[in-house]
Amino acid sequence: MARVFNFSAGPSTLPEEVLKQAAEEMLDYKGSGMSVMEMSHRSSWYDEIHKKAAETLREIMNIPDNYKVLFLQGGAHMQFAMVPLNLKKNGRADYLVAGQWGKKAAGEARKFVSVNVVASSEDKTFSYVPKIDKSMLDPNADYFHITTNNTVYGTRLRDKDIVCLDNVPLVADMSSNILSEVYDVSRFGIIYAGAQKNMGPAGVTIVIIREDLIKEVEDIPTMLQYKIHADKDSLYNTPPCYSIYMCGLVFEWIKKKGGVAAIQKINEEKAKLLYDYIDSSNLFKGTVEKYDRSIMNVNFKTGNEELDKKFIKEAAENGLVNLKGYRTVGGMRASIYNAMPVEGVKALVEFMKEFESRNS
Ligand SMILES: *Cc1c(COP(=O)(O)O)cnc(C)c1O
Repeated sequence: MARVFNFSAGPSTLPEEVLKQAAEEMLDYKGSGMSVMEMSHRSSWYDEIHKKAAETLREIMNIPDNYKVLFLQGGAHMQFAMVPLNLKKNGRADYLVAGQWGKKAAGEARKFVSVNVVASSEDKTFSYVPKIDKSMLDPNADYFHITTNNTVYGTRLRDKDIVCLDNVPLVADMSSNILSEVYDVSRFGIIYAGAQKNMGPAGVTIVIIREDLIKEVEDIPTMLQYKIHADKDSLYNTPPCYSIYMCGLVFEWIKKKGGVAAIQKINEEKAKLLYDYIDSSNLFKGTVEKYDRSIMNVNFKTGNEELDKKFIKEAAENGLVNLKGYRTVGGMRASIYNAMPVEGVKALVEFMKEFESRNS
């Protein structure tokens, strides 16, 4: 068996230790005589898995007691609609649009509220994160929506650079960098993230929501109400049990590694290896503003489409797969989420050096 280094943007690589544990527990979960996939979601076996996953996430993200952790379905896309549907009051919302997903979130919200795009970097193909100040924000907005990591273009918004108003809930799509660096949860009203980038298999979306934002909203479908899921501890209907179990194992893995701050250090080192080489290379170029560079999704290109194609093909032949950039962007994108070992990044840099020497 040969595992490749998988740089896919999502679904993406998972920690090998976690996959091995899941394999061990596949046929007989801890003496239950069955797989987690086969259990009733009302069983005490599953109940423990469900509770423990939420507890471990609370611990590693330092989530305050006045927040609920929800396990929902429908991906980040469902949150694009659930957020406006549930937070709507004055019918106005602010959006910072720094990438393809932020743009899509704003587009969906427009169906339900009046959307004000505070700033957008679309003028320069989302190659930077727009700087804003408080005077640009609407004090009467129902919420202010940001994306902390722009998966497609490879930029990020650090915790310390987030500008928001105290009395307007801050809502963040953290799908592609949750648990990769420390964010102060207490500043946010809602954090949401699809699991399939940095947490586990597709099928579950994590929502961390401040309790005062959980309200009865009667005129929307039951399944889209945060309140029903919060009241029923994400067991209103059958949850994606196996995905939640896998996320729980990944949370434990992070805890064992020393938590999010420790993982952040490793992530910064991994990203630096790659960016330092790109900056010293005569063949490969970075595509975004240096300060805004993502430590999860690293975009680069040669400037020659044929050469990019050749690189992607030859890299795959060498066990470095899924390096093709997003279809609207082109070039290469190496997604180096938490589970990508430093050896994978080193192997990629070595291959890039070798490719450069052969093609210049
Ligand atoms: C992948 C991604 C999405 C889309 O997630 P789905 O779970 O497929 O709906 C949304 N936002 C960001 C930032 C992403 O990286």
